[in-house]
Amino acid sequence: HAKEQGRNNYQFFKQEMNDKVVERLSVENGLRQALARQEFILHFQPKIHFKTGLITGAEALIRWQHPDRGLLHPQQFIKIAEDSGFIIPIGQWMLKTACQQAKDWQHEGLRPIPVSVNISAVEFRHDGLVNNIRNTLAETEIEAKYLEIELTESTLVQDAKSTMITLHALKAIGVKIAIDDFGTGYSSLSNLRQFPIDTLKIDQSFVRDMINDDDDALIVSAIIGLGNNLNFKVSAEGVETQKQLAFLQAERCEEGQGYYFNPPVDAVAFATLLGTNHAA
Ligand code: C2E
Ligand code: MG
Ligand code: MG
Ligand code: MG
Repeated sequence: HAKEQGRNNYQFFKQEMNDKVVERLSVENGLRQALARQEFILHFQPKIHFKTGLITGAEALIRWQHPDRGLLHPQQFIKIAEDSGFIIPIGQWMLKTACQQAKDWQHEGLRPIPVSVNISAVEFRHDGLVNNIRNTLAETEIEAKYLEIELTESTLVQDAKSTMITLHALKAIGVKIAIDDFGTGYSSLSNLRQFPIDTLKIDQSFVRDMINDDDDALIVSAIIGLGNNLNFKVSAEGVETQKQLAFLQAERCEEGQGYYFNPPVDAVAFATLLGTNHAA
């Protein structure tokens, strides 16, 4: 009866909490060792210019080759890395490896393209960020224009004043700046106009549903119109079908990425993609 059921629910709830705590601690402990043990790798997803089919960039996406659990994706550990502070050294490794990889591709004779790196709010608010980016560019001898920083809209709206200072410092270095997951973060129009940014990346949730959901279609059209009017490049995330591509092109979105073109792949596979990529 009710009382027993209540107790069972409570036991179940307690067990679930417990599992979560154990899971969290295990990930945290693993993260402690992961850099030293070289368990992180980067995958790269091409950004495609719709009209020509040319690769215009590579988004670096971190993966964790976990000794017991196989290949882990960022949503399985990035939040925990942020909360525990490990995101700072991981982000530094990530930035350096992405820049080094861009340089290596150039040395292989491949057409130079910008590499994009995701920076979380914790990293963006960290004092060392701007210096670290400057030093990493110098060390890896990458021209600043070949590095793009992706910041989510929710990161940018957190503290307008310090956000603006950091964005301008990054702009002064010469790196490109994209707003990731755009449309989900409630930035005001006036903020948006003032941000010294280059690209709006339409959040993939809108792209996923826009063919069947009029509201999402409207949002996508509005973001593209807004971006084009403010002279930002507009990029779509999560393009999976020909129908989605056709809609985006009809709305004058220039470029995007997604499984319709390519999933994220390792550095060797990416080099092959880039080496065989020619204007259609
Ligand atoms: P994001 O930057 O918005 O990256 C896009 C995510 O969508 C990636 O997931 C990518 O693999 C996935 N994706 C690409 N094409 C498609 C598609 O056609 N359909 C669908 N459904 N998904 C697609 P991933 O690699 O799991 O990364 C998730 C998030 O983790 C990223 O979102 C980014 O915010 C974060 N992240 C990834 N790497 C790093 C990193 O090195 N540092 C930090 N701080 N965050 C990272
Ligand atoms: Mg991104
Ligand atoms: Mg995104
Ligand atoms: Mg995302």
